[in-house]
Amino acid sequence: MTNDLITGAAEFKRYHYEGDNDLMAELVKIGQNPKYFIVACIDSRCNPSTIFRAKPGSFFAHKAMGAIVRPYKQGTALAAALQFALDYNKVETIIVLGHTNCGAIKALVDEIDDPEISSFVSVAKNALTTAKSCCDDQDEIIAHTEKEIILESTENLKSYPSVARALKDKRANIKSWQYDMNTGDLLEYDASKKSFVILNNNVKAQDSRHK
Ligand SMILES: [Zn+2]
Repeated sequence: MTNDLITGAAEFKRYHYEGDNDLMAELVKIGQNPKYFIVACIDSRCNPSTIFRAKPGSFFAHKAMGAIVRPYKQGTALAAALQFALDYNKVETIIVLGHTNCGAIKALVDEIDDPEISSFVSVAKNALTTAKSCCDDQDEIIAHTEKEIILESTENLKSYPSVARALKDKRANIKSWQYDMNTGDLLEYDASKKSFVILNNNVKAQDSRHK
């Protein structure tokens, strides 16, 4: 049942351990030094390693439904991970990576009757309220909420002491990104335009990158 994963692990081993590529050997020997910390959704279709075609050692990743960041609370998985990344490593950029067609956001909008899920996504109710105030159509409300939650999560990140310290010391910055699953576009919130703009339109793809 897990043959596809085992085959993938064999291919990864062949590429990274048995050929000329010495990246993993270097990372194991010297240690990791990722520049990014990505908060992503658990959605299987937009795994950051996949959509960024990232090499090993590129970033720390934290996953949560909807890439939702709840306000700081000591002892959570995210609080510990951020502290490790910012205080004990040299992460420079924290990225909140939301995406379109997000099941978590749909669960919020549809007011899913599941206390375990609703109690987690409920923190994003403000985003939904904002969306409802400017959109009528259900699809528009979902699309707007998906973007609003990214911004709300970005704000909530600032309540984490490790993040607040890093921002104050200008050691790190936060980016609000959205992956458009329909088009493959990567968007970033531009505060001056108060909207999301596409980042990867005129970037030349390099087919030779790590597979
Ligand atoms: Zn999602």
